[in-house]
Amino acid sequence: MRSPIPDYLAEALSSVESDESGAMADYIPELAAANPDRLAVALCTEDGRLYSQGDADVAFSIQSISKPFVYALALADSGFDEVMAKVSVEPSGDAFNEISFEDGTGRPLNPMINAGAITAHTLAGPRDATPTERTSRIIDGLSAFAGRHLSVDEGVYESEISTAYRNRALANMLRANDIIDGEPLDAVVGYTRQCALLVTVEDLALMAATLANRGVNPLTGAPVVSALVVRQVLSVMATCGMYDGAGHWMTNVGIPAKSGVAGGLIGALPGQAGIATFSPRLDEHGNSVRGVDLFRRFTSEMGMHLMEVPPPGPSVVRGRELVGTGDQAVQILSLQGRIRFAGAERVLRDLENDPLTQKRVAISLERVATVGPVARRMLLEAVRRLTLDGHDVYLIDPDGALPDPDPGDGGRVTVVSERLGITE
Ligand code: GLU
Repeated sequence: MRSPIPDYLAEALSSVESDESGAMADYIPELAAANPDRLAVALCTEDGRLYSQGDADVAFSIQSISKPFVYALALADSGFDEVMAKVSVEPSGDAFNEISFEDGTGRPLNPMINAGAITAHTLAGPRDATPTERTSRIIDGLSAFAGRHLSVDEGVYESEISTAYRNRALANMLRANDIIDGEPLDAVVGYTRQCALLVTVEDLALMAATLANRGVNPLTGAPVVSALVVRQVLSVMATCGMYDGAGHWMTNVGIPAKSGVAGGLIGALPGQAGIATFSPRLDEHGNSVRGVDLFRRFTSEMGMHLMEVPPPGPSVVRGRELVGTGDQAVQILSLQGRIRFAGAERVLRDLENDPLTQKRVAISLERVATVGPVARRMLLEAVRRLTLDGHDVYLIDPDGALPDPDPGDGGRVTVVSERLGITE
């Protein structure tokens, strides 16, 4: 069978194709000269399958879409405390290049506006890195997210740096506020080079998929940043990623996202996929008109809004059975599905409301897909309490859903890979 997904993406592109509203960014002369009709989409699943349609091989400058990734590198290289001391995480409601700083600290409000992004740029790489070393670290880091080496469009860089008076003003203010060290112009040069990196929608989809996949590039397998860094970055994207249109974006589309003035737009859906679109005409907030439309469509048609959860599946507690007789009898509590806090709570409640009656008891994980870290602690505590209540506890865990179970103080558990192991 041929997958219907490419057809679906092609159809989505043709549904927005005729919309010529919006305007090209013209404050960077080179961007104003781009072809406004370009249109492309790419989707990369969290296990690395890439689909794309339209002008998927056309490269354009990444612009502000570099910001979340450089923020990720800053967090990874300088640590959360250092980065938080210099850049806050509050949505500003201001335009991307607004000259606004937090009262009292002089910090930029978040890393998605230019002031915060220039600051994040200076926090990527080792503290004593030269400006050139820092920019290389950033290019290498963004390349690791994309799974291939990215290079700077020198034309776009020259075009922007020659008119970057506002960003220079921001960097000077940051230096005056003691937020960045060193020569402010170096920070603007490095930041402008980072914005001029050339990408295609496929690169962007893979970069977004790396965020969706807890920081591991799903195609190369390279761990780029930690899951904790990803959590921070996606949270900031969700609240501040769409310039001053962030609130409407989150309510209508509901995917952590970032747009750039060259017309790119990415969304990262944690645990599922990264999506990218490219269409250069922008709305009044600076977001790609047709890109926003496509994402609206994907949200409703693919059920991607983060705040929308699927209807409850079957209970984690699948049932109970008694196998064997007499002394050999074992009461088995079978669990199923993906177990997180709420599922584990259901197990604990079941054991409290309807206590197991046999001396020998087993918890079967044969049909369990995953056990989250909190659920793991809760299930192990259940094992410990069952032991203290006088039970011999077995865990039937053929696929290692709960590896190295240690129920702690006074708890004991015997792991078997099949039922026969306890009934015979
Ligand atoms: N290079 C652009 C700037 O700093 C990035 C703007 C954007 O994509 O929002 O002005």
